[in-house]
Amino acid sequence: MRGLIILLLIISGTVFCQTGDQYESVRNRMVNDQISGRGISDQATLRAMRKVPRHLFVPASYAKDAYSDRPLPIGYRQTISQPFVVAYMTELVKPAKGKKALEIGTGSGYQAAVLAEIVDTVYTIEIVPELAKEAAARLNILGYKNIVAKYGDGYKGWSEHGPFDIIIVTAASDHIPQPLKDQLAEGGRLVMPVGNPATVQELILLTKKKGKITKQRLETVWFVPLKRLKE
Ligand code: SAH
Repeated sequence: MRGLIILLLIISGTVFCQTGDQYESVRNRMVNDQISGRGISDQATLRAMRKVPRHLFVPASYAKDAYSDRPLPIGYRQTISQPFVVAYMTELVKPAKGKKALEIGTGSGYQAAVLAEIVDTVYTIEIVPELAKEAAARLNILGYKNIVAKYGDGYKGWSEHGPFDIIIVTAASDHIPQPLKDQLAEGGRLVMPVGNPATVQELILLTKKKGKITKQRLETVWFVPLKRLKE
């Protein structure tokens, strides 16, 4: 509890001192060079990437590197994805107003925040209790009222709130969990890194039309492994 209060103070202090946001120009440069410069053209995605203060989603010691072209450690042997990968996955799921999204692997909460700038509601699940708690506190302080975050094993999805128009899995497995396929809405899109969790994976896009799922193989990516809680 005390740790949480200290974390809240640190985050709110950072937000308070940075109204006007000293990183705004660095963030815009990141979007120009790394995101739109590499082919991401969805306006809603670009707008969200320009808005979300990524430096507040990484440990303070990494704030100055938050807009560089790489993933960063967020503690507990987990990482926040490279900005381009976040933008690429966001564009792939065609986010829009009126849609409901599910994310597996909250991590820092950054991908959830980017989605929440565009869609109606984001449900997000994190399996490391400390990260789940920190991300929920951070998203709350930053004012994201349309994100519902919980601790748990995302393998089974979140059926009470499904079906989802968008499902983003930000951890790798050798297969796509069946419950997630089942919780994909008609016309929905799911992206997930699939392959060897110890090496590299392929980003897979599933789309559901008339109940039938179609699979597309995309870029080679590297994500941390999707873990399981023991039953
Ligand atoms: N989307 C995050 C980065 C994700 S890193 C961000 O924007 O910062 C992948 C995360 O998935 C890690 O935090 C890891 O703990 C979590 N994870 C791994 N297996 C999981 C599971 N079965 N359910 C939920 N979260 C899981």
